[in-house]
Amino acid sequence: MTESGDNAERQMRFLFALRSKGVTDQRVLASMERIDRGLFVRGLFSERAYEDMPLPIACGQTISQPSVVGLMTQALAVSPRDKVLEVGTGSGYQAAVLSQLARRVYTVDRHRRLVQEAAALFASLDLNNIIAMTTDGSHGLPEQAPFDRIIVTAAAEDPPGPLLAQLKIGGIMVVPVGRSDTVQSLIKVTRNETGFEYEELRPVRFVPLLEGLGKDT
Ligand code: SAH
Repeated sequence: MTESGDNAERQMRFLFALRSKGVTDQRVLASMERIDRGLFVRGLFSERAYEDMPLPIACGQTISQPSVVGLMTQALAVSPRDKVLEVGTGSGYQAAVLSQLARRVYTVDRHRRLVQEAAALFASLDLNNIIAMTTDGSHGLPEQAPFDRIIVTAAAEDPPGPLLAQLKIGGIMVVPVGRSDTVQSLIKVTRNETGFEYEELRPVRFVPLLEGLGKDT
């Protein structure tokens, strides 16, 4: 088969896997079709970038499984006017997917190296509505708060208080909750006039949300 034929088939299989795991939102699928996951996985594992599995990235972290990225993005119900905060930039893939759906995406990671590599990719792809910063995201990003949407891509034992406080009324946060050595629960938090509503979505496994900056930073 020609190279473009191979790519088209690989792309079809990638999208089919997403749909079969429950990613049905057309805007989310279109964004994941546009953003090439292969660019966000380096080295040895790059040839597995189109399989529905998490893969290792630098600093001992992981790029999430595509279907989990899709389901979290879908649960976030992002609209084109939204200002979104992502805690846990990692490879930058989730932020890139969100950039197609939101007005602006702030993404933060405690590892400077990951933030620098992701920012370089965003620039090369002209994803100019993403702002990547090195900081401890468990405190949120007070100077840009409040946010319409917050997505946390590392597991916390409880939804972090500062993040709840930085969510607008009517806003949605998606966060994996539970200890890092066990299966965690993906939680959708919706802020209303009087408080917060919690909905449990599905079991997931994420690296832990850690305090402070990474040792390399
Ligand atoms: N969303 C990423 C995957 C994230 S892996 C992607 O699309 O590839 C989880 C990331 O959370 C790791 O890079 C880790 O460094 C980061 N992290 C963990 N604790 C953090 C904290 N307190 N503040 C910011 N980032 C944190």
